[in-house]
Amino acid sequence: MSSAPKISKETAAAPATNFIRNIIDSDLAAGKHAQRRWSGTPGLASQQLAGPLDPAKIRTRFPPEPNGYLHFGHAKSICLNFGLARDYGGRCHLRFDDTNPEKEEKEYVDSIIDAVHWLGFSWQDDKEDNLYYASDYFDWMIACAEYLIEAGHAYIDSQSAEEMRLNRGTLTEPGKDSPYRKRSPEENMLLFRRMQAGEFPDGTHILRAKIDMASPNINLRDPAIYRIRHATHHNTGDKWCVYPMYTFAHPIEDALENITHSICTLEFEDQRPFYDWLLDHLAEGGLLQRPVPQQIEFSRLNLTYVVLSKRKLIQLVEEKHVSGWDDPRMPTIVGARRRGYTPEGFHLFAERIGVSKADSLIDYSLFEDCMREMLNESAERRVAVLDPLKLIIDNYPEDQSEECFAPNHPLKPDLGKRAMPFSRELWIEREDFMEVPSKGYHRLYPGNMARLRYGFVVKCLGCDKDESGNVIAVHCEYLPDSKSGTPGADNYKVKGNLHWVSAAHACPAEIRLYDRLFANPAPGAGDRNFLDDLNPDSVRVIAAQLEPALKAAKPEERFQFERHGYFVADRTDSKVSAPVFNRTVTLKDSWGKASK
Ligand code: ATP
Ligand code: MG
Repeated sequence: MSSAPKISKETAAAPATNFIRNIIDSDLAAGKHAQRRWSGTPGLASQQLAGPLDPAKIRTRFPPEPNGYLHFGHAKSICLNFGLARDYGGRCHLRFDDTNPEKEEKEYVDSIIDAVHWLGFSWQDDKEDNLYYASDYFDWMIACAEYLIEAGHAYIDSQSAEEMRLNRGTLTEPGKDSPYRKRSPEENMLLFRRMQAGEFPDGTHILRAKIDMASPNINLRDPAIYRIRHATHHNTGDKWCVYPMYTFAHPIEDALENITHSICTLEFEDQRPFYDWLLDHLAEGGLLQRPVPQQIEFSRLNLTYVVLSKRKLIQLVEEKHVSGWDDPRMPTIVGARRRGYTPEGFHLFAERIGVSKADSLIDYSLFEDCMREMLNESAERRVAVLDPLKLIIDNYPEDQSEECFAPNHPLKPDLGKRAMPFSRELWIEREDFMEVPSKGYHRLYPGNMARLRYGFVVKCLGCDKDESGNVIAVHCEYLPDSKSGTPGADNYKVKGNLHWVSAAHACPAEIRLYDRLFANPAPGAGDRNFLDDLNPDSVRVIAAQLEPALKAAKPEERFQFERHGYFVADRTDSKVSAPVFNRTVTLKDSWGKASK
């Protein structure tokens, strides 16, 4: 992002304005789509018109190219398209846009299916299963192309690529007609059939729409629609050696699937006149039913501290700046999942940022706030000591232990309490003791009293040090009549409140403290290499002491570790009885502040 970023941090609880909803509302009020027919599967008008009225009020689609892992921008598009279908009694299709023979891979198809499911959406219900592959439509695309040829709306151009480029003109100059533009429909058809039969090498001929070489919109200067490409396609094998251009294929895919509102990102705005031209001509020829789909553009998601360009994400993985596509610092959906972000957090985020046509850059802390808000609701509380220091209770018997009870969720008493063993030796946070307290410090220092949360009030007696003067243990005595939840526990007024785990019962565990992958809000802005903006402290691995209940954490279980933040048991490396936790997000937004 080279221009000065406009950073918005919406805080409104109401859904941000969504101009697409206004369009749908007025379409529904006007009954625009009410007469469409739907045979139950994609197809040309002849097939659809024989079916009943379409039970879906609207149809949207999410059309990824299966050539990479989905990122946060795709999540916005998924929430938008599936969310609209859900809210309006419609359907949203998952369509793999796999018309380009060389690029797609099965691995990506599977990961996209997983990602959409994980976000909580489905293209299936008891009546319909709307999972499609655009490459299944090649026969229909050929029929559309041949109709355009017959009707005089398309011709075979045999200029070289260089000649075509030169004759296209510029933003200020009109293009020049190709010398092949006047070929008869018969000659064009013959050549197109010979192209399909494999008689010509790649690049020798191309099918172009016949529109207007002088159009101020370069996309209307006889755009290419079908090219020769001798390549094996993952789905159709060697059946075809001609493939449609994306700008021709995509509108037809939408129309074959009865899509009513085809929502895409702003860079396709200049393509809309061709989208409309194409579908209108095909409907005129009776190949498609009316009304044809409407393309609507919105601005893509950009986030501070994040790169979403596929090229840059690939570079991060290939050059091993991260551990893989699912590295918890990656802005991919697999990364988010491993990080512990929640589908509900994505939904809230999508709703808060809304949809508009204005380019904007969203503050990453807005994303984190959405995650915190949802996790605060859903995550049970647990205790973990991340920087352990021994606390010895001198007046507590060595061979004794007892249970203290901690609520699992302060907002949800019905989730009950769990027992935490208390014994003579505990782990506390190193920062919860100061030999010489600073001003306003209320935790442990010699002579001071503080409460061990859910346990007893203790009075600090002093500490042990090693030869270099480092504190290795703190000593205190406990007040037996101060146990939380027992009568008289409130008699002690103390300001400090510490968390702890019993050393003999604790579960030692690896914890990965993740932070933002980039230290700069606009990675690579100006002339910088985005890699120079990587945050050197984006992950720190520590050995922590957890309360024993966490031993049983299942992979992907999420918790709030009191005072520390939200954590998830790592999907890949965590095992029941040997947990590994990832920090999802801290409790408060402390980014950029000294207390980090
Ligand atoms: P990239 O350019 O990063 O590779 P893409 O848009 O080419 O992404 P597709 O698989 O074609 O990748 O995208 C599928 C859908 O996701 C498209 O409808 C596209 O508009 C939408 N999408 C992609 N990136 C974003 C983004 N940053 N914000 C919102 N929607 C996006
Ligand atoms: Mg794309």
